[in-house]
Amino acid sequence: MEIMLAKTMGFCFGVNRSIQLVNKAIADGKKNIQILGPIVHNPQQIKDLEAKGVRMVDEIDRLVPGTVFVRAHGVSPDVLNELRGRKGMEVIDATCPFVKLEQDYARKLKDEGYSVVIIGERTHPEALGVQGFAEGSVIIGTAEEAKELKATPKLGVVVQTTLEPESVDKVVAELYLKAQELRVYNTICRATRERQPAAKELAQKVDLVLVVGGKNSGNTRRLAEVCARLTKTQHIETADELEKGWFKGVKSVGVTAGASTPDFVINEVLDRLKSFG
Ligand code: SF4
Repeated sequence: MEIMLAKTMGFCFGVNRSIQLVNKAIADGKKNIQILGPIVHNPQQIKDLEAKGVRMVDEIDRLVPGTVFVRAHGVSPDVLNELRGRKGMEVIDATCPFVKLEQDYARKLKDEGYSVVIIGERTHPEALGVQGFAEGSVIIGTAEEAKELKATPKLGVVVQTTLEPESVDKVVAELYLKAQELRVYNTICRATRERQPAAKELAQKVDLVLVVGGKNSGNTRRLAEVCARLTKTQHIETADELEKGWFKGVKSVGVTAGASTPDFVINEVLDRLKSFG
């Protein structure tokens, strides 16, 4: 069985940067290192950091004095100010620069009098954080939701960094009918723009694609959706989920991984695959 890898996969710049910042804080001996929300949508990476004493904290009220990280997804300005106002708390902002750009554009659009739309997932922390930069902004994910919006003279749009460009196009086409002036900042990040085409290219060449990454990771799920349109696809979090039956009659298998999937998880999958012959 031939094993092929996507040209680009695994940790993106923003996730890598945030994990490095946490590891540096550990090495510097900072006390009570906490991360507001899971630092990445990958349970294995989180377990690794927890084993080093880092705590993932879901609610601000559960933080204790020490060091708190804002993860790559970012937070709203209100949350950031609240963290900075806490006694005995050092705040390290690990928001990905690509997310910061999206936040800045949302604020600029609001300041310039646009009604702001965030094309994204309603419950995704990145989209929710960006919403805080433009009061009154709405998050929509589909062309159907765009149809429901009221017409307005000036409509400004930013895009969640990990969305698939083709699905964004459909939403924008509907928004075009809703305003006299439509301004769109395409804030899909470079990592997404590279990884999705690389996954498509891979899926066109193989009988089966394994997409490795957190089941709760939006960008990993989208890679799986992209591949599933082209060939048989399995989305797995770890090597333990691999089933021999999937490989019956399969001559070539492709492997790709989400932007939040650490190398050690990908390597375990590759090692297990090789043992299947
Ligand atoms: S997926 Fe893109 S925006 Fe998100 S952390 Fe990675 S580089 Fe940054």
